[in-house]
Amino acid sequence: MMSFDLETIPRLQHCLLPTPIVPMDRLSEHFGKAKIYVKRDDLTGIAIGGNKNRKLEFLLADALLKGSDSIITEGAVTSNHCVQTAAFSKRLGLDCELVLSDSFVGEAMTGNLLLNKLLDVKIHRVHSSSDRKKKMFEIAEQLAHEGKQPYVIPTGGSNKVGILGYVAFMQELAEQSSQLELVFDYFVLATGSGGTQAGLIIGKKLYYPDLSIIGIGVGDKKKETGKAIREIVANFEKEWGLNLGISKKEIVILDQYAGEGYGKPTVKMIDTIKLVAKLEGLFLDPVYNGKAMVGLLDLIQQGEIPSDANVLFLHSGGIPAIFTYQKYFLEKF
Ligand SMILES: *Cc1c(COP(=O)(O)O)cnc(C)c1O
Repeated sequence: MMSFDLETIPRLQHCLLPTPIVPMDRLSEHFGKAKIYVKRDDLTGIAIGGNKNRKLEFLLADALLKGSDSIITEGAVTSNHCVQTAAFSKRLGLDCELVLSDSFVGEAMTGNLLLNKLLDVKIHRVHSSSDRKKKMFEIAEQLAHEGKQPYVIPTGGSNKVGILGYVAFMQELAEQSSQLELVFDYFVLATGSGGTQAGLIIGKKLYYPDLSIIGIGVGDKKKETGKAIREIVANFEKEWGLNLGISKKEIVILDQYAGEGYGKPTVKMIDTIKLVAKLEGLFLDPVYNGKAMVGLLDLIQQGEIPSDANVLFLHSGGIPAIFTYQKYFLEKF
């Protein structure tokens, strides 16, 4: 069994790191309670930034090590993960094929779908997200048949390799925290497939033990997301022979801010994106960060996060979706 040492794990250092930590003074003052900061992972530097780039530093290093020349991954047509994977692959001179399923907002040639066009990657369409995996393995088989070396990345890059990006993130955060002489009490993020939160929970155990991590679910119910996170953590621990003693209550997911489900807008989310833009000059996306910020502000207002706390919000990217969702910003619904 290998022992866990982050420095020795293959990684392509292409992201612009560390990403900055910025105080949200006007937003904090607006509520007059906890002090809010934002960690700008929308500025990771590949495509239009975002959290998947950190995972891809490890996933694509693994792909290269295995001699792969073609990357295959999956998502909805609006997927941020797919664009970041496509852009990162292109940068390495690798082929990339995407399996994209229908999304709630339709097929307009804007946002991430437009960016995928510019990247000139091959797109395979399926109707339902449940059809994507089978399609990916069909494509992989076909490519292998043609003499290529495909590498398949699951939804959101969320497996034991991808989450290393957010284990390493916690090490980065601990260093920044000591440089800034600022201790964060709470960390709030948007949680989808759960890989980011899984990596953060592991990283916290290793590098930032007193931090409380709160995941705001943006689609699935907390039971499913919690199960997904526990599975990824278990795979990771098994791989590295670790037993981090992560209890169920350390995996905090709040699903009451997701509205009617993944990608479905809520009135509060739209209002909150406008509020943050107006007060901070910062744009949040409607699928992930808008809903996560609704959750954060509610926890502060309800006193669940105490007034003397320092809270760090993860801006995980997703900006192109603002354009895909334009009608919700222009109309009342
Ligand atoms: C994918 C994504 C997330 C969620 O990350 P998971 O690891 O899938 O939970 C959050 N924000 C944005 C902008 C994303 O693209």
